[in-house]
Amino acid sequence: MLTDYHLHLRPDEEGTTFERYFTEENVRRYLDAAAAAGVEEIGVSEHVYRFRQALDVWRHPLWVENARDDLDAYCEFVRATPLRLGVECDYVPGAEERTEAMLAARDFDYVVGSVHFIGEGDAAVDHLGFDVWEGGGDADEIWSRYFEALAACARSGLFDILAHPDLVKVWGSARPLPRRDLRAFYEPAVEAIAESGIAVEVSTAGLRKPVGELYPAREFAAMCVEAGAKFALSSDAHLPEQVGFGYDRALAFLEELGVEEICVFERRRRRLAPLGAPVG
Ligand SMILES: [Zn+2]
Ligand SMILES: [Zn+2]
Repeated sequence: MLTDYHLHLRPDEEGTTFERYFTEENVRRYLDAAAAAGVEEIGVSEHVYRFRQALDVWRHPLWVENARDDLDAYCEFVRATPLRLGVECDYVPGAEERTEAMLAARDFDYVVGSVHFIGEGDAAVDHLGFDVWEGGGDADEIWSRYFEALAACARSGLFDILAHPDLVKVWGSARPLPRRDLRAFYEPAVEAIAESGIAVEVSTAGLRKPVGELYPAREFAAMCVEAGAKFALSSDAHLPEQVGFGYDRALAFLEELGVEEICVFERRRRRLAPLGAPVG
């Protein structure tokens, strides 16, 4: 079984309106791309900041600028398609109760939890408009903060899948790298992953980014395996042609780690299925 749960039906750009992209025709493009890539089950996980309801959780300037769509109209639309219904939701420290209220009121198949913003205020690890590295930045400090936030995200119990688990590396050599052994940064996150049981996303999105590698890094993934973690598989596609992107690489990576099962979700219940492309 192959899945692709972390999908967006539109690029993160101005003018990508709900009306234009949440159409039967666009869903058909994703389903056709999945069939061509041998991916049996796909689901959509739109960014939570696209929805007006998210402003009850947080009023980050990016959210205020983008929160135009209705979360319930989205759920209703996706439920009427063969897609699984998910959402990509940021972990916002201190807003756990409001996040829980927003999520629990809808019948998602799964919730992808992510950390994009770290530290005080608005800074993001992957967004040039709110770049955490602006004006320099100490790599050890930024990486520590990122992985502590990731650990809190896992531990919050709000989410089913932990998205792009080492997103902090997204810029690759274009940003400073820590001097310490990276495993020291992964450790608190791995501990939280083990305690919470959250599924760890293997995301091929990193292959399309400056870093040019999968999330998570091999050492990080190996520590997760050691700790008994389960994995989910995603491309983080923002276009139909990215569905199942780089899955040959992801499958080889998981095979080398000895991972033979993948998480499958329905109505926020998880089961494990044998990992692999359909035969024939
Ligand atoms: Zn993300
Ligand atoms: Zn995403």
